[in-house]
Amino acid sequence: MFGQLEHLPADPILGLIEAYKKDTNPNKIDLGVGVYRDAAGHTPIMHAVKEAEALLLTRETTKSYIGSHGDPDYARAILPLVFGAASPLLNSQRISLTQAPGGTGALRLAADFIKRCAPEKTVWISDPTWPNHFSIMQAAGVQYAKYRYVDSQANQLDFAAMLEDLRAIPEGDIVLLHACCHNPTGFDLNAEQWQQIADLLQERQLLPLIDFAYQGFGDGLEEDAFAVRLLAEQLPEVMITASCSKNFGLYRERIGSFIATAPTASAQAALASQLALVARANYSNPPAHGSAIVSTILHSSELSHLWHEEVNAMRLRINGLRQALVEGLAPHGLSERFACIAEQKGMFSYSGLKPEQVAQLQKEFGIYMVSTGRMNIAGYHEHNLPYLCKAIAAVCQ
Ligand code: PMP
Repeated sequence: MFGQLEHLPADPILGLIEAYKKDTNPNKIDLGVGVYRDAAGHTPIMHAVKEAEALLLTRETTKSYIGSHGDPDYARAILPLVFGAASPLLNSQRISLTQAPGGTGALRLAADFIKRCAPEKTVWISDPTWPNHFSIMQAAGVQYAKYRYVDSQANQLDFAAMLEDLRAIPEGDIVLLHACCHNPTGFDLNAEQWQQIADLLQERQLLPLIDFAYQGFGDGLEEDAFAVRLLAEQLPEVMITASCSKNFGLYRERIGSFIATAPTASAQAALASQLALVARANYSNPPAHGSAIVSTILHSSELSHLWHEEVNAMRLRINGLRQALVEGLAPHGLSERFACIAEQKGMFSYSGLKPEQVAQLQKEFGIYMVSTGRMNIAGYHEHNLPYLCKAIAAVCQ
């Protein structure tokens, strides 16, 4: 059987990593991979995480299974972060949380749950999106389709087109929304636009599946939860997939959550029972180390304070890099053309560079980004910024 297998092409981003590694250009810059990097080009372990791990080493007493829904202490720590510490939902018995292996694992739980409980529904996904959204739905056998999100000519959010497409979706279908820091574009909705989305979802009885992978990377931990909280407050049912990969820097620990709000406590209990089954059939129990770290941090006021400072520092650094790039392009007469970079949110930017310009950046300057022109803002730093600006200017001639 193995001799007949088709050899699949590498994931485009993994292919970029390989090409980057082989490049001997001493000035090369990797703007491809979606991880945060500090000024030294490292993806550091946060101090709050290190301190929590030191505590865990002395406190942990077992490595036994934690159960299909995960650690209840972790759930108690995460829910106020997602819904707000004062949210009446917290004591409503309407929320169910199933700990998952990363945001990806949470999305897979969502997809398997949809396939199991509502196989006739289609999941509507922004075009463009994080490509794994499609792969996950496909792997779970869930039908999906796209709604428009970006005006690629003008390289900006096309909210009118988004609304038009969402209005045409059959009642009862599911809409996958990026809560903040839209990947890959960096174009987010404002408060007024989110309210329009909430009204539309209500009117058309559409169920949101909100991907919340970058809380704290846009405008702040509380601010970035705006859409999640608005939709959870105004709609009877929402699904949320949250990830601690980015904001706790716990990428490889695989820690995330599938969260759903149900209209009643008994509906919530039924939903939780379905999710336990979906999780069991998938991987049985989630890994425990990441959730123990997150819960140790969030249940300690001291570590929580330290973590808040560290997330803020990452966010401010990213926003500073956005600003610096636009300013660095100004002497080349390009600040207006790339002004959107300073306005976009999160780690990614749809730069508006065309595939041939991206290819030229790679070939002539050793600068690597996805062919769509998506760049990881945390991939460059203060020292190589002038080189990056010069290279962009050269391919924009
Ligand atoms: N959703 C989006 C939009 C993402 O960009 C990512 C990470 N690249 C994820 C979900 C999942 O992240 P993880 O599984 O690493 O938590």
